[in-house]
This record gives sequence, C-alpha cells and structure tokens, in this order.
Amino acid sequence: MEFDVGIIGTGPAGLSAAIFGQRLGLRCVVFGDTPGGNLCVIEEVLNFPGFPEGVGGAALGAKMFSQAQKEGAFFPMQPVQGLRKGEDLFIFEAMGKVEFKAPLGIIACGLVPKLDQIPMTNLKGIHLCATCDGPLYRGRGAVLAIIGGGNTAATYAIKLSKIAQMVHIIYRGSPLKMEHAMERMVKGLNNVNIWLNTQLKDFLGKERVEGLRLEAQDKKEEILKVDGVFLAAGWEAKLDFLDMEVKRTPEGYIWTDAHLMTSVPGLFAAGDVRDTDLRQIIAACADGARAANHAFEYLQGKI
Ligand SMILES: Cc1cc2nc3c(=O)[nH]c(=O)nc-3n(C[C@H](O)[C@H](O)[C@H](O)COP(=O)(O)OP(=O)(O)OC[C@H]3O[C@@H](n4cnc5c(N)ncnc54)[C@H](O)[C@@H]3O)c2cc1C
Repeated sequence: MEFDVGIIGTGPAGLSAAIFGQRLGLRCVVFGDTPGGNLCVIEEVLNFPGFPEGVGGAALGAKMFSQAQKEGAFFPMQPVQGLRKGEDLFIFEAMGKVEFKAPLGIIACGLVPKLDQIPMTNLKGIHLCATCDGPLYRGRGAVLAIIGGGNTAATYAIKLSKIAQMVHIIYRGSPLKMEHAMERMVKGLNNVNIWLNTQLKDFLGKERVEGLRLEAQDKKEEILKVDGVFLAAGWEAKLDFLDMEVKRTPEGYIWTDAHLMTSVPGLFAAGDVRDTDLRQIIAACADGARAANHAFEYLQGKI
C-alpha cells in the first residue's frame, strides 16, 4: 500500500491530522495502539467546545477515531519502533520490522509523565493534570498535595490554591526549581505550604488516597493527610524511535517552525510533543489540522 503521510500517534493531534489529511486527499497511515491517546485516561472533559454537559475522554477519543476511520485513514494499530529518512521517503518501522513508506511524516506522539521517583499505586484521587481534574475538588474544603518543585508544580499550586482549602507542595530537592516570578507568586499564596528536601515514600488509603508517607532529609517520617494528589514531577517527550537528528528545545520538546515543520524537511510535529504554549485537547486538534494542511502545501511545493 502507498501512503502520502505517516502519522505517529492516535491522540487528538494524530487523529485530527488524519481527518484533515484524508479530506485534503492525502493517504494517511496512523500508528499507535490507543484510539484517543491520552483522552482514554480523562474521566470527564469539561473544556472542549460543543459539550456543555462535559464528555468522557474515552468517548470523545472513540468519536475522533471513528471519524478518522470514516475518512479512510489506515490504522495498523501498532506503535512505530523506528523512523528514518530514506532517499525520498520516510520509513516508518512497525512491529516485526514491517516497513511503511511515505514522503511526509507527522509526529504526534504526546508526552509521558516522569514517574521515576513516584511510588506505584492503584489508588483513586491521584491526578496528572490540575487544569483538568482540579475542579473536582471545588467547594469541598480539600487538602491537596502537589509532587514536584518546578514550573508545572507552580502552575498547579496557583490553580489549586483557588480551589482547595490547603495545598502542599512536596519537593525532594532544595531550592525549588521554578522560575523566580513563579516562586514569588507561589510563596505569596497564604494557603500553600512548601516541603523542601522531602521524599514521597508511599501513598496511603484503601480505595482513594487518604494520606502520604513522607521522609525528610534526616530520614524522619511524617504522615500528611490529603484528599487528592497532583503529580507534577514533569512530562517528557519519549522519542527513542527516531533514527535521525530532529532539533529539540532544551526541555526536550520537538522544535517546529511557523508551519509546524520540524528541522527535517517534510517532517511535521503536532500536539503536546512539540514546543507549544498550551497542552490541551483543543490545541492538539488544531495542531493536527494545521500540520496536515502544511504537509499538503509542502507536497505541492508551496512552502
Ligand atoms: C489525566 C489528564 C487529564 C487531562 N484532562 C484534560 C482536559 O480535561 N481537557 C483538555 O483539554 N486536556 C486535558 N488533558 C491534556 C490532553 O490529554 C492532552 O493535551 C492531549 O491529549 C494531547 O494530545 P496529543 O495527541 O498531542 O497526545 P496524546 O493524547 O498523548 O496522544 C499521543 C498518542 O501517541 C502514542 N504514541 C507514543 N509513542 C508512539 C509511537 N512510537 N508510535 C505510535 N504511537 C505512539 C501515545 O501512546 C498516545 O496514545 C489531560 C491530560 C491528562 C494526562
């Protein structure tokens, strides 16, 4: 089978790229094994236009997926294990070393949470996104904890301080890693308490998280009662499938130009994985649409 564009990722960015690409006449092959990508882990999406009552993340992802299927995109339902540049075409290597070739590529593989310092748990009440899940605690007099000490933690603290009765930032190092302006803002909030040099050792609770077991630098342990926890140790791009040099920002996101093209001609990036200022569904969808459109223009020699 011949394709015009290989799209890596079946999240909102990749699926929007497939819908727009197909409608422009580009034959799209879309790699990934989770229809909807990150949407599958979102209980309820309340900020996507068109759904005033909210919509389940998995249901929204399933609709985007079936729309891309209906437009004729091809889904091998496998991740890409390698991406390299041949003479004129990009070569996408799927499982079993099966190769797909296309003159255009769109990387829309999202981010993965940095969880290397976080204990494993199945408890409810542990969240990855304050914008999305913070409002669940509104008006409940909640005590919330944020794990992390960088800009993500700062952004979460600013948001959650308006929702919760008390917010604890728990950071294993010292000083905090956030920008000075952010730090000043966080320290000015009277319901935010900062624990430095404090390691999260365990989540406590039966079904929901009820507390945290913390360890200070001197190994003294303390139990902190909480109603919810937001993991803000950061997100990272996992791009080990790339078998070529693609320019990245110091934070590891894929650099793109005004047309969402990467440093490799003909290779575009969309959604959370690229250097963007809004990591939300609506922005990922817009990115996917724009990447497909610019890829089409590139093929026609217009950019
Ligand atoms: C818990 C949580 C709640 C959220 N709530 C909201 C919300 O309420 N509203 C909102 O607007 N945003 C929310 N977000 C953010 C939103 O989910 C993301 O901004 C959006 O999903 C990004 O879309 P994407 O397509 O760029 O990436 P993703 O949705 O992450 O999709 C990328 C897909 O690519 C796949 N992939 C990775 N590597 C490969 C590979 N090598 N080959 C093939 N596929 C690969 C991944 O497995 C994934 O399925 C939330 C995020 C989280 C984590």
